Amino acid sequence: MMEIKLKAFAKINLGLDVLRRREDGYHEVRMIMQTISLYDKIVMQKLKQPEIQVKTNLFYVPENENNLAYQAAKLLMDEFGLESGVYIDLQKYIPVAAGMAGGSSDAAAVLYGMNQMFHLNLSKRELMKRGVKIGADVPYCIMRGTALAEGIGEKLSPLPPMPNCKVLVAKPPVSVSTKFVYENLKLEDTAAHPDIDILLAGLQEGNLRKIAANMGNMLESVTIPHYPVISEIRDEMLRSGALNAMMSGSGPTVFGLFEDEKQAEEACVSLREGDLAKQVYLTDIYNNRR
Ligand code: ATP
Repeated sequence: MMEIKLKAFAKINLGLDVLRRREDGYHEVRMIMQTISLYDKIVMQKLKQPEIQVKTNLFYVPENENNLAYQAAKLLMDEFGLESGVYIDLQKYIPVAAGMAGGSSDAAAVLYGMNQMFHLNLSKRELMKRGVKIGADVPYCIMRGTALAEGIGEKLSPLPPMPNCKVLVAKPPVSVSTKFVYENLKLEDTAAHPDIDILLAGLQEGNLRKIAANMGNMLESVTIPHYPVISEIRDEMLRSGALNAMMSGSGPTVFGLFEDEKQAEEACVSLREGDLAKQVYLTDIYNNRR
C-alpha cells in the first residue's frame, strides 16, 4: 500500500466538568465527547527515504515536528525502526485552536494510517495507548463516537450513540489560550459545574431534548466574561431555534444543536451574513467508531 486517504473528524463536548487540579498541573475532567461530521482530509504516501514531510493548506499550521500529525508518524517510525518514510498532505477544515481537537484528530488518523500502510498489526487499544503520548484527546479521536472521558481525558468509556441532529458550528475571530482558561478556572464555583450524570441518563434514553437541555461546559465561566462574543453567538443560535448552544472545549468555537433542518440552515445563513463568527459550518452527528 503506497497511498492512503483518511478523514480526521472534529469533536464537540456535550458536557465538560473539571473535578480537580493534580499535583503535576494537569486537570482531572469528566467530559462527554461526541464526533461530528466536520473533518480534515489527509493523504499519506510512502517515501523511499526514512523522513517525514508535512504539507498543509493553512500558513499558520506548522509543517514541522510541532505538527501533531508529524509527531504521530515519528512515534511509530521510531518504535518500529521503519526504513521508509511518509508524506502527509493535510487539508484543514476543522477550525484551528478552537476546542474541536483538530490537531489530536489528525494525529489519531495518522497513527491509524501508519498502522495500515506499514502493516504494524497494532490493535485499536494499542494505538490508543500510544496516542496519549501525543495528547490527552488522541485516544478518543482514535475511538470516535459518543464517549465519557475521565482522568485527563484519556480514560474512555463508550456510551450509547447520540441521537442524530443538525450541528451548527461557529468560530468567532478571537484566540483563546487553553492554558489561560485552566489557570483562571475557579473549581469551587459550584454553579459552574454541569450535571454530567443527567446527560448520561439522556444518552441512555436516546432523548435528544434531555441531552440538549442539560449540556454544560464549566470552561465557559472563564471564557465568556473575557470574550462576550461567545455568548452573543450562543444567544443568536438560541433565537434561531437551536435546542441548545454552548462553547466546545476551551473554546472559542460555539455549537448549536437543531432538530429542525430548515431552521438550522437559516441560522447558518444568518450567522454567515453577520460579523460575529469567522468560520461557520452546518454539519451532523457522526457515530461510526473505528
Ligand atoms: P483541543 O480541542 O484538543 O484543545 P484545539 O482545537 O484547541 O484542540 P488544535 O486545532 O489541535 O487545537 O491546534 C492547536 C495548536 O496546535 C495550533 O495553534 C497549531 O499551532 C498546533 N498544531 C499542531 N498540529 C496541528 C494540526 N495537525 N492541526 C492544527 N493545529 C496543529
